[in-house]
Amino acid sequence: MIPKPPPLSSDHNLRQRAEQQLAPYQPSPDSMDADAKRLLHELQVHQIELDMQNESLLAAQTSLEDSLKRYTELYDRAPVGYFTLGPDSTIYQLNLKAAKQLGLFRSQLKQQRFAGFLSAESLPVFNAFLSAVFTHRTAQSCELALRPVGQSPALAVQVEAVADDDGQSCRMIVVDITERKSNEEKLELANLVYQAIGEAIMVADADNRIITVNPAFTELTGYTLQEAVGQPTTLLKSGRQGETFYQTMWRALETIGHWQGEIWNRRKNGDIYLEWLTISTVYDEQNKVRHRVAMFSDITDQKHAEQTIWQQANFDSLTGLPNRNMFYERLAQEMKKSQRLGLPLALLFLDLDHFKDINDTLGHSKGDLLLKDMAQRLLMCVRSTDIVTRLGGDEFTVILTELHEPNSIERVAQDILHQLTQPFELAGDYAYVSVSIGITLYPEDSNDIDTLIKNADQAMYAAKAQGRNRRHYFTASMQEAALARMQLVNDLHEALANGQFRLVYQPIVDLATGDIHKAEALIRWQHPTRGLVSPAEFIPVAEATGMIIDIGEWVFQEATRQVAQWRAKQHVEFQVSINKSPVQFQKEGDGHLAWFEHLRELGLPGQSIVVEITEGLLMDADTAITRQLLAFRDAGIQVSLDDFGTGYSSLSYLKKFDIDYLKIDQSFTRNLSPEADDLALCEAIIVMAHKLGIKVIAEGIETEEQCDLLIAAGCDYGQGYLFSKPVPADEFERLLEAGRI
Ligand code: C2E
Ligand code: MG
Ligand code: MG
Repeated sequence: MIPKPPPLSSDHNLRQRAEQQLAPYQPSPDSMDADAKRLLHELQVHQIELDMQNESLLAAQTSLEDSLKRYTELYDRAPVGYFTLGPDSTIYQLNLKAAKQLGLFRSQLKQQRFAGFLSAESLPVFNAFLSAVFTHRTAQSCELALRPVGQSPALAVQVEAVADDDGQSCRMIVVDITERKSNEEKLELANLVYQAIGEAIMVADADNRIITVNPAFTELTGYTLQEAVGQPTTLLKSGRQGETFYQTMWRALETIGHWQGEIWNRRKNGDIYLEWLTISTVYDEQNKVRHRVAMFSDITDQKHAEQTIWQQANFDSLTGLPNRNMFYERLAQEMKKSQRLGLPLALLFLDLDHFKDINDTLGHSKGDLLLKDMAQRLLMCVRSTDIVTRLGGDEFTVILTELHEPNSIERVAQDILHQLTQPFELAGDYAYVSVSIGITLYPEDSNDIDTLIKNADQAMYAAKAQGRNRRHYFTASMQEAALARMQLVNDLHEALANGQFRLVYQPIVDLATGDIHKAEALIRWQHPTRGLVSPAEFIPVAEATGMIIDIGEWVFQEATRQVAQWRAKQHVEFQVSINKSPVQFQKEGDGHLAWFEHLRELGLPGQSIVVEITEGLLMDADTAITRQLLAFRDAGIQVSLDDFGTGYSSLSYLKKFDIDYLKIDQSFTRNLSPEADDLALCEAIIVMAHKLGIKVIAEGIETEEQCDLLIAAGCDYGQGYLFSKPVPADEFERLLEAGRI
């Protein structure tokens, strides 16, 4: 019996396809043969079937292998770490990323524990997490800090795991969230800073509407977030800065997108404060303005603090005067200014004499009181433009600036010496001090700051060496001139008491008739040793020391006594002119009332006196001076404008002050000749004066020619050596009587 062929595939399709590859089966009449043939046919079909089965198995295997390869590839190259862990975190399997996350090769990691790569803080978290994974059999997740081998900063990772069905392992995905974490932290930090920063921040949109502000903004301005949002950025504008300020600011913002500076703003409560403001611009992708961010802080206090520091660094705390620092700065400035203006300056160094004794006997606090008082006294001796500083201890300096008049140095020095010798009242005690002053001049003595300071110091020591309580000039000639002047001042004091003054008279001739009914009284000083001293020398000193008041009073008494005589003896309308200094007008106040009284006592009318004044007086005339001049007019006393043409002559003054006579200055008369410009000038002055109803007197006529020209020009009166020099009263009388003039 022929064995049965092996069971054929039950796949009907397969069999059909196999049979199609064979010749169709032909049944044989011979039964044995027929069996064998069928069997053979069956075997052949079977063979073909097997082959075909094999082929599809092979194909299936290849595709399986392909997918496995693809899966492994995906698994290995996945951007997240895949781990298969045991319940004790033993690593069974992991992908390449996972190995990288732990900092080792994959081969090194099998059977290691994942927990071994965690930071100490993460370990308990992980243990809890892993036990939950195996207990609950549901997906669990947590965040951990991984410490990869050989890399220092820990990796922040998020892990997610689920246990396998058999409960023996779990699969875990590890995602690196370091960057996200750090971004989150940065954001959190930025927000924290924004909220907590002491600086006010205001963010506005492109239309300059506020979109947010931080708490510091609220604290500084008083506006809450709700109040500020939606408002225009001009909400805080104080109005202290002008339009140009804002224009400059906006120009900067529109061109470079940035501006910073100081600005006055206004709080909600109306207070105005100074802030330091920085504005930056944030642009969008199209480079259009998206936001403007303003950051500011209140610097009012800071400014005050800076001011205090500056004050402390530059000013003396005891006296409030500028200190040594400031002294150098101011001196350098003033030297430059002096050079620019062409006006000299004087530097005075002052040192108190024996100040140590005050400290030793009365104590330092009283010494301090004295220094404070001294500072005040010094300030009283100088103009507001001068600079008084304290160098330290009992050393002070004075810078006398813009010296129009060199005499003023001596005046100030003497004033200081005088002021400081007055007793100091020091909380119940009295102290007497004196000071030694060294004086030097810029640019005369030096144009170098250090040399100038050295000069003043040296001069100050010279003053000390000469016996203190005095001033000493650095330059010998200045020192000599000052000494001579001081001598003059001393002698002048004696002069009045010792009757050393005289009056001389110079006739004023009526040029039309030749009559002499007027004379100018001029003072002379008969000095006991120097002989006759010119008024040009001593009048300025008398003015500077104030002695001119007493001297002027004497001149008035003497001249009125004389005019009374001449009115009786010579002519009833005789007139004497007296020169009155501007200082007399300024210091005397109502002194003229006594003059009127005096004239009344002598029975003299106002017309017996003419007061000669200078143009300078009219220039600076304040109401008191105007009042005095008009009082003279009302009393019938005439006023003559002396030295006309040398000052800032102005017609309006002549009208305003009711001037009676103009005296053309000698300098014009001297140069008179038929072709000279001065003649034209004299003529013009005369015409103009006559138009205003003013008579003209020409001074300093020395020649017949000058006299003739002046007569031709219509001049009313003449005075000068041609007629007579100023002479004593008796000689004047003799000249008159002899008809010599
Ligand atoms: P002044 O008031 O302009 O007086 C005229 C000056 O010219 C006088 O000088 C006089 O002597 C001088 N003089 C007169 N004729 C001629 C001349 O033909 N040629 C020249 N070269 N000079 C002539 P003097 O007396 O030396 O007085 C000078 C100045 O002193 C006066 O100028 C006046 O400003 C002032 N002065 C004189 N006496 C007094 C006074 O009592 N009080 C005041 N405050 N100042 C006085
Ligand atoms: Mg005169
Ligand atoms: Mg004159």
